[in-house]
Amino acid sequence: MILNRIIYGLLQKTHELVHGIKSNGINVLMFHKFTENITKDKYSISISTLKNLLFSLKSNIIHIHEIQNSKSGIVITIDDVHLSFYEKAFPIFIEYKIPFTLFICPELIGRVNYLSKEQVLKILTLGKDLVTLGNHGYYHRVSRFSSKMFVESNYKEGQNYLTENFNIKGSFFAFPYGSYYAVSAENIKNVYKIDKIYPFLTVNCSFDNFFEKKGFVPRININDCNSTNRLLRLTQ
Ligand SMILES: [Zn+2]
Repeated sequence: MILNRIIYGLLQKTHELVHGIKSNGINVLMFHKFTENITKDKYSISISTLKNLLFSLKSNIIHIHEIQNSKSGIVITIDDVHLSFYEKAFPIFIEYKIPFTLFICPELIGRVNYLSKEQVLKILTLGKDLVTLGNHGYYHRVSRFSSKMFVESNYKEGQNYLTENFNIKGSFFAFPYGSYYAVSAENIKNVYKIDKIYPFLTVNCSFDNFFEKKGFVPRININDCNSTNRLLRLTQ
């Protein structure tokens, strides 16, 4: 397992170096938790950094539905979804009128420190024209080492959850974890076959003909430590 992590980690790093982040392409940003203070956590961002980032990128941010027909732009996505999004970040997205996508993992809904179903409904009401709900798999598990049957049903159950609870037909899917370690090329192909939806992965590079080449949409993880560099590159 450790060796696998190292190998796939290196593969991903190489891929990220080769493709890179281009300011004139489409860049899909990925967020998880939101904190009061600046943090070193890879999956958190402070509210002050978030505000600066959104303020600078505002005019470049596009709706996730525009991704296929746009040549450039920034798409905002939030995974899992942590309670801190609702309490700290959601009001900022509303204030700045910034479209965003929540990748919902039903297994996490209602857990301590995660959104409840009622809070998701409130976001859908208050953020009506801004929010898109996406499928993040019913269970938050690594796909690469799971059976084909599990990976497919995890996707399908996630889609069903969105329809049954929010009357939404999911058009976007992000693999749980989403790294090269967590997702194989076969996983991508098998999930794509079901609804012809290109899955989102966590690979830090721009979205540049990835549909044709790799069959997935890469997403850039943003946190306090890397946001300034990435922000500079994205706004050049
Ligand atoms: Zn996740």
